[in-house]
Amino acid sequence: MPAFAFEIASKLPKVGTTIFTVMSRLAAEHHAINLSQGFPDFDCAPELRALVTKYINSGLNQYPPMAGVAPLREAIVEKIATLYDAHYDPETEVTVVPGATYGIFTAIATLIRPGDEVVLFEPAYDSYAPSVEVSGGKPVYVQMRFPDYSIDWREVQNAITPKTRMMVINTPNNPTAGVFSAEDLRVLESMLRGTDIVVVSDEVYEHIVFDGHQHQSVARFPGLAERSFLVSSFGKTYHVTGWKMGYVLAPKELMAEFRKVHQFNVFVANGPIQYALAEYMRDRDAYLSLAAFYQKKRDFFLEGVKGSRFKPLPSRGTFFQNLRYDAISDEKDTDLAIRLTKEHGIASIPVSVFYREPPSHKVLRFCFAKSEETLARGAEILCKI
Ligand code: PMP
Ligand code: GLN
Repeated sequence: MPAFAFEIASKLPKVGTTIFTVMSRLAAEHHAINLSQGFPDFDCAPELRALVTKYINSGLNQYPPMAGVAPLREAIVEKIATLYDAHYDPETEVTVVPGATYGIFTAIATLIRPGDEVVLFEPAYDSYAPSVEVSGGKPVYVQMRFPDYSIDWREVQNAITPKTRMMVINTPNNPTAGVFSAEDLRVLESMLRGTDIVVVSDEVYEHIVFDGHQHQSVARFPGLAERSFLVSSFGKTYHVTGWKMGYVLAPKELMAEFRKVHQFNVFVANGPIQYALAEYMRDRDAYLSLAAFYQKKRDFFLEGVKGSRFKPLPSRGTFFQNLRYDAISDEKDTDLAIRLTKEHGIASIPVSVFYREPPSHKVLRFCFAKSEETLARGAEILCKI
């Protein structure tokens, strides 16, 4: 093509290719074990695949309703009512979306205007700040305290100004693998009381919480539920990250505005997959057994790296295990992640990329949503480093 002849005033001048794409590509190039980008190396349930095939073959292949098919919306609100004792209206308060990334982006685009401030917690999942900036908003950061990644809520209070329009929270948290306690959410609930600040709550790992703890959804806290977009993803729950399916819940006033943007952004999410998910959601065990399934993998991986010089940080949820490498190298995590991929055949994610200014912490993130065979081979490599 001939070159575009004019200067482009980029809306995202600092954004390059995501670290997940970079590391997965590097892993493929070097035939490395890929514990970087978060996705399972095993398939979803054959029953779920069969349901999608069934609905495609039954001819449900045209546009579904804009908010999502009724049986799926009903199944979602029923699950939320059972698990978190919160009651959303399936007609007006839930929308099925093509992935959580989209749900978060659209919630932000729905409300954020130029100059509005959005509180983010660092390290922050990489899509949040660009989603804010595309709408002209300004991310305002509060750092989680290293190494336990706890939050000093007084700092959050200090970060709130008259321009604060929104806050994005994420529990269980990527990349820290930490979870919010009920007390964290109670403090947030009382801090926001009387303000018009809206919360976007990224709960894509809602079913992956370990060691007997409960997932603390904003839905459990009426003072938060009344001001929140709760966003989740079927990708994590059913091992189908490539399907890009998720859902958003919010009080009807917020959801009505969300749908105005949604209908002109994508209009609808994939139809036959929605029918399949609705039917599959009747099997509650599929999501209720997920925490135990991943806890076993976490423990298997931890056992494998026990003899290594890497030092694990707590993984309380998600399918990530962070490992400190202070005892191994002074290198920057970005350099080490690349070197381990090229020279040792194992790919990870450097946690510093989730900060604006890379901190000096020496931490790599490893995804354990993998077969035991993959995890064993990965751990074996790490033990030799
Ligand atoms: N939020 C977090 C914290 C994630 O880790 C991910 C994906 N790994 C997403 C959102 C995106 O989910 P989806 O693939 O459904 O867009
Ligand atoms: N959320 C996944 C991770 O943290 C990756 C998703 C993506 O590649 N955008 O690894």
